[in-house]
Amino acid sequence: MSKGSKQVSSLPAYLFSIFHKKKVALEAQGVDVIDLGIGAPDLPTPSFIIDRLAKEARDPENHRYSPYGGCREFKLAVVDFYQKHYRVELDADSEVLALIGSKEGIAHLISAVIDPGDGVLTPDPGYPVYQSAIHLAHGTGVKFPLDEANGYTPRLEKISERDIRRSKLMLLNYPNNPTGATVDLDTFEKAVLFSKTHHLSLVHDAAYDLVTFRDYQAPSLLQVQGAKDVAVEFGSLSKSFNMTGWRIGYVVGNRDLIKALSIVKSNMDTSQFLPIQKAAATALNSDFVAVKENNRVYEDRLDMMMKALQEMNIEADKPRGTFFIWAKVPGGHTSQAFAEKMLSEAGVIITPGNAFGSKGEGYFRISLSVPKERLHEAVSRMKKVMKGGTM
Ligand SMILES: *Cc1c(COP(=O)(O)O)cnc(C)c1O
Repeated sequence: MSKGSKQVSSLPAYLFSIFHKKKVALEAQGVDVIDLGIGAPDLPTPSFIIDRLAKEARDPENHRYSPYGGCREFKLAVVDFYQKHYRVELDADSEVLALIGSKEGIAHLISAVIDPGDGVLTPDPGYPVYQSAIHLAHGTGVKFPLDEANGYTPRLEKISERDIRRSKLMLLNYPNNPTGATVDLDTFEKAVLFSKTHHLSLVHDAAYDLVTFRDYQAPSLLQVQGAKDVAVEFGSLSKSFNMTGWRIGYVVGNRDLIKALSIVKSNMDTSQFLPIQKAAATALNSDFVAVKENNRVYEDRLDMMMKALQEMNIEADKPRGTFFIWAKVPGGHTSQAFAEKMLSEAGVIITPGNAFGSKGEGYFRISLSVPKERLHEAVSRMKKVMKGGTM
């Protein structure tokens, strides 16, 4: 008998953990598994950020509780970053909140804003955490499709009257996980207008805002005139500065939404360790050379992988952001069957598209957060399996 609540016991099984179990079992048999399913950077945190952490960790003043919502220095660094990078003005007191990673913030925002039964419009395919957070908050996930034909942008005009009426929030995420899709500001303009027209709150998850290639700069949703009336944007140091384990992110935008979130958070946590916030401020105040170097590493791997996929006759568009490639499953297999075959015959983990929702069926996701030599090895094994004739 489960001791968890109904909501906890009825959470759908996380597909990633099923793959993880298979990986552990194969490794126990001595198989050298290459994991292209990872959703986190493999590169280290830049050393100037670690230096600041080490220095601040030695100051006893920093061993106390942080102010609720984050310390002044971190919030001002977020304000300056938005000013410099996006020309967006923010009020540090009411429009910025420090988070223990954006995942925490998104989950708590949902629980701070919805009542039992309320709908939350979420992209399909999409980051699986949205669905679990909605479920735990007793809400209803209301999915809208992201189609390849439409560049994985939301087709707002296709969302039914009923789905709009039962929803309170809409979630977007660009550069997008898992599809790697990116948008220009007009997509956000339409989403803001849609949200205003239908009295929805709008949430943008910008976890990959700085993980972009060449000349492409991802826009901020807050660059849309009047966006702050309805929207918040979540940012994270995790992907851009290789700081996943540090647990530091932020939310900016609409003050009422931020207020609701801060009430939940002040009853749950007391923000992040001050030296981490201060080191993150140093990262946001930096010249972003480290971020650009990271992006070059990803793009180099990306070019290599795109070429390899082409040689295998696997269709995929080259993304302008994220460290993911979203590719079509070859040969009429299901996503799951293809992923299982790659794991058992090539010892390569790729993520089946259906792990991100039913619209992900027919696709798979490759993560580029693996060193190039390992990517080469993965490619050569995949090619062998494909040539085996059963694909
Ligand atoms: C990684 C990721 C996050 C979580 O980032 P943290 O700030 O580390 O919690 C949020 N959204 C998406 C789409 C992600 O891929």
